[in-house]
Amino acid sequence: MIIKFVSIYLFVGVLLLSFMFVNSFVRGKSSYAKAFGALSLTLQIYLLGYLLEINASSLQEMFFWNQVQYLGIPFFPALWLVVSMLYTGKGKYLQGFGGLVVFAIPLITFFMRLTNDWHHWYYSQIEIQQFIGVNYMLLTKGPWYVVQTIYVLSALVLCTWFYFQRYRNSTGDEKIQFRLLLWASVLPYLALVLVTVNIGGIGIDYTALILPPCIWLLFLSLTRYNFLEIKDLARERVFEDSGAGLILVNRFYRVVDFNEASTKFFQWFNASIKEELLAVLLTDHQELLESIRNSDDQVFHFIVDGEDRYVNINTRIVQNKKETVGYLITFEDVTERECLKQRLTEIANTDELTGLNNRRRFREGAEEAERQARCDHKKLSVLMMDIDFFKKVNDSCGHHGGDAVLRDFSAMLLDTFSEAEIVGRIGGEEFAVVMLSTDAAKAFEKAEDFRKMVEQKTILFGEKSIRVTVSIGVAELNEATPDFDALINRADHALYKAKHSGRNRTVLENQNQA
Ligand code: GH3
Ligand code: MG
Ligand code: MG
Repeated sequence: MIIKFVSIYLFVGVLLLSFMFVNSFVRGKSSYAKAFGALSLTLQIYLLGYLLEINASSLQEMFFWNQVQYLGIPFFPALWLVVSMLYTGKGKYLQGFGGLVVFAIPLITFFMRLTNDWHHWYYSQIEIQQFIGVNYMLLTKGPWYVVQTIYVLSALVLCTWFYFQRYRNSTGDEKIQFRLLLWASVLPYLALVLVTVNIGGIGIDYTALILPPCIWLLFLSLTRYNFLEIKDLARERVFEDSGAGLILVNRFYRVVDFNEASTKFFQWFNASIKEELLAVLLTDHQELLESIRNSDDQVFHFIVDGEDRYVNINTRIVQNKKETVGYLITFEDVTERECLKQRLTEIANTDELTGLNNRRRFREGAEEAERQARCDHKKLSVLMMDIDFFKKVNDSCGHHGGDAVLRDFSAMLLDTFSEAEIVGRIGGEEFAVVMLSTDAAKAFEKAEDFRKMVEQKTILFGEKSIRVTVSIGVAELNEATPDFDALINRADHALYKAKHSGRNRTVLENQNQA
């Protein structure tokens, strides 16, 4: 009768544990849920072994099932402790040596029990006894059994202490949860006492009977008040749903995890992402790899389906106890921002009416070219131009007519001077050109060609056809010219002479004048 009752009880316990195992180990995302799943599994093996042991018909069968139980028995106190540590935020102590300490004794116990027949250190004697018609194994404890018991007791005390600490420092729902956890961790002491005292002297395994309600309590409190799981899930959601591509690599730059968005960026790089070394995945992008290795924050340009794409790549070091364990690489699509930035720079540098460089940008470029020419001992010439009698154009054709002339004049400038030269509108109808690697004679020649072209060009504005001429001053950079302003002044002086000697002409500034 008793045996039936106990068997049904154990059977229900095994069923419950299977449910908890599936719920935690398979569906749980956090490490403590996995640990809890493993705990359920070890207990399940233990209870099932015990259930079959007490129902065994022969002594041999009994021994066999007792041995099977030891696939679970040594490990559940360790996992019981691990769950409490992970749940109370002490998981870091389990890494490396800590983890080894926790699992060393259970492992030894497992092998001790397995090889007990040879040394009898775990059970010094195994006998079969009968109690109200039921067979029990009477096991006399050996020295290692004592070690294991001390270990179990220490694990239980630590676990209770961890839950107690959190219980004391928490409020609200969290307090209720830790009270439940505390109860769950206190109940096994009762089992330990009952087993040690061996009530009834019949060798009943009280631990096997008491553990199912404990673990049910543990399960309830972990799932009902599941704060940490929520935190982990939230973290994962942020990682997965981020619009930025996130890639986690270990310290050897091997991909450990990546989110959905990162695949889009890898398509831009014409690469696929998988758990592989970054150097292999990005072989065709050495610059990008270098930037990741240097933990730079850098923008890279790609052309994807004929469109400009910009990606900002940022690498953050992931540390654990001041030791670098990996890197989190963020890929962010900054195309819109970069295009806007470029547009703003363009607006800031361009003359709105003609599209030429404005005065500021011209000066910047011209000064840079002048510095370079001095450095490389290269020639450089400047042309200053002013449209003749422009006021009259405005007077006869109106301001819009004047604008049309300025636009056409600028187009002619761009047609005549190569892209390497710097062309700018520096005033109303004043323009300047910096000619690289060009001496005064060549510059003069080019200026004359241009002047003649302008002279011959008829600009159409509505019904009207407009003709203008231009005066040009030319100066070449020389040792006597101290800076860029001095060079411009010399070209301006030549222009002044061109105006005063009748306009529509080019004047070369005296080489010797500073
Ligand atoms: P000169 O041969 O001595 O250079 O005679 P000019 O009439 O060209 O002389 P001035 O420099 O006195 O006149 C320049 C005129 O250009 C005055 C101004 O109204 C006109 N102007 C300046 N900027 C613009 C513009 O953006 N559009 C138009 N339509 N006219 C402009
Ligand atoms: Mg003028
Ligand atoms: Mg003028």
